[in-house]
Amino acid sequence: MPSVASEPSAVERRELLKEVYARAKTCTRCPELAATRKTVVFGAGNADADLMFVGEAPGASEDEQGVPFVGRAGKLLETLLGEIGIERKDVFIANVLKCRPPGNRDPLPVEIDNCQGYLRRQVELIQPTVICTLGNFSTKLLRGDPTGITRLHGQPEVLTLGRRAVRLYPIFHPAAALYTPRMLETLREDFTRLPELLALGAPEQPSFEEIPEIDEPVAGEAPEPEATPNASAAQAQAGARNGVAGSGTQPEEPDQMGLF
Ligand code: URA
Repeated sequence: MPSVASEPSAVERRELLKEVYARAKTCTRCPELAATRKTVVFGAGNADADLMFVGEAPGASEDEQGVPFVGRAGKLLETLLGEIGIERKDVFIANVLKCRPPGNRDPLPVEIDNCQGYLRRQVELIQPTVICTLGNFSTKLLRGDPTGITRLHGQPEVLTLGRRAVRLYPIFHPAAALYTPRMLETLREDFTRLPELLALGAPEQPSFEEIPEIDEPVAGEAPEPEATPNASAAQAQAGARNGVAGSGTQPEEPDQMGLF
């Protein structure tokens, strides 16, 4: 009989997530982005969140602060979350690209391809029940299909990503809704369905035989891992739930470690 590996705990998954972040921080797969970024905006929030949001790419404020969705679109996202009784710290927020495209241009296909391993690993480690894709880029990437957000928004579907089945819920990007009142209305309506989707819990998971080996290399991750920050399990446990820094060893730069 094949031996059955036990599932990593939330604390272990957070530690693994920190390793992925350490690799992303020095990634140079996209030479233009690596040369022009100020920070790698890995993602922030609860590393064991039921709900994950995936946007497009960092903008100028995010690049400056090292935190996703801190500009006007981020404020709107927070407001809409608040309206359904969810706080930002309870969800995990990431992007398709971890680096800002110069001038906020659209992500290039090669950049999306280079970066997607990080996102897939984030999903695998955070194990969200619901992934809300914000706009076209994340929706098309995670669905593996060119159908656009206008057709898909507000329609949840169960999708297997890596070895996890999740409820994918595409909605409009808040940046698009900032200037279009009708889009904002639709986005708000779609948000109101999130609590009932979360209440359904995780979809049925693929059986162990159907999923690949754990810890195989993930496309998009730099080949040589960086040294892992050395947070204790107790610190990590506290941080995993409340966003308190698990490491605190790099105060001179935006400490995204402390953000998940
Ligand atoms: N838009 C995005 O898609 N991501 C951010 O982090 C900010 C704005």
